[in-house]
Amino acid sequence: MRYDLAKSGNGLTYEIRNIVNVAKLLEQHGVEICYENIGDPVAKGEIIPDWMKETIADLVKSNNMTFAYCPTKGDYDVREFLAERTNARGGVQITKDDIIFFNGLGDAIARAYSSIRVDARVMLPEPTYSTHLLAEVLHASFPPNTYRMNPYNNWAPDLNELEKKVESHKSIVGILVINPDNPTGYVHTEDDLRRIVNMAKEHDLMLIFDEIYLNMVYNGKKTIALSDIIGDVPGIAMKGISKEFPWPGARCGWMEVYNADKDEAFSRFVNAILNQKMAEVCSTTLPQMSIPHIMNHAMYTTYLNERLKHYEKLSNIAYNMLKDCPYIVVNRSNGAFYMSVVFNEAVLNKNQKLHIPIKEVRDIVDKMCEDKMSHDKRFVYYLLGATGICVVPLTSFFTSIPGFRMTLLEKNVEKFEQTVKTIKEKIVEYVESGSC
Ligand code: PLP
Repeated sequence: MRYDLAKSGNGLTYEIRNIVNVAKLLEQHGVEICYENIGDPVAKGEIIPDWMKETIADLVKSNNMTFAYCPTKGDYDVREFLAERTNARGGVQITKDDIIFFNGLGDAIARAYSSIRVDARVMLPEPTYSTHLLAEVLHASFPPNTYRMNPYNNWAPDLNELEKKVESHKSIVGILVINPDNPTGYVHTEDDLRRIVNMAKEHDLMLIFDEIYLNMVYNGKKTIALSDIIGDVPGIAMKGISKEFPWPGARCGWMEVYNADKDEAFSRFVNAILNQKMAEVCSTTLPQMSIPHIMNHAMYTTYLNERLKHYEKLSNIAYNMLKDCPYIVVNRSNGAFYMSVVFNEAVLNKNQKLHIPIKEVRDIVDKMCEDKMSHDKRFVYYLLGATGICVVPLTSFFTSIPGFRMTLLEKNVEKFEQTVKTIKEKIVEYVESGSC
């Protein structure tokens, strides 16, 4: 090329997908991989029920417009339907014009942060779901501002830290809350959420609540939607169908904008998002149009509840098996479908290993681990080589706390028990394999 045309990266990678490249390489050398890295229920064997497939097939057959472009913000009737659902909760009231569809919530996230001025920053939880962090850091080209989710307090957010940073960092314009949380499985309490809303009100901030897992809460926990408590604070709730239907391949998510009329700067920000969307014409039509038909289907709630029961079961199996494991801290997940395991301070070092039976695989992993890498990533690579279990290092969710995230998506309960049992054995074997 005439000159080096590629934009320089910021050094951050999306490890949830990156680890798959390593897994695929090891697969070629005979390792049977158990994918525990990505939150895709369908890829983990969720059978889409016939009624859902038939609902979508009927829609395709009966409505030619499912093949057409739709309005930039999304189909009118669908936005009307979603606005009515939110209004029926009795909190903040919206119209269809306050809803904007995107090609997956990942797209909404990217567009939201890229519409923010470079010097204006959003406080993120730590650890945080990678797409938010990558988009926020990409927009600012500076390290993120974060508040800690505390593994020694069931992953509850450190709201004192949040408040202190909000007060002292004048560049902060908003707070992100992921509820329920990815990667921790934490479900925020109503009291904490109300405190965050009050903080935003007091300091003139906007709120971004990623609620893609809002209807995926179990173990008797309860939480509350942003729309229920936001009052007159400007904010955006981000929602989608990837996890709940589940239909991640549909690439369909949306923003609900609250109180755009109450703050001019916030309203200009929402317009900047919309202008980006207009340049792209619109988002995927068919998945949008299916939403009222699927959510109103007589089987929908029953189906979702069955899935939640399964996640609850797996959450308890994993917690009960791992809670007495030395060298780690675990918390019971009460929402979404992830569990994050944290290594105790200073138990990991760069001399530890797991025995990998296949020589070629052992050579590959040993070689990879010669590179400078975080201690938890090294554990994850050895676990992958030795057992085929593919989890994601916790530090790739942008925290300095070493650990890993696994999912609660396995359909076969016995296989899941075996996986957790193996993980437990390998944690001990790995930590005890090498001293500093
Ligand atoms: N937000 C959170 C918290 C997620 O965990 C995910 C996907 O894992 C997304 C957003 C992105 O969802 P989508 O498939 O709609 O892009």
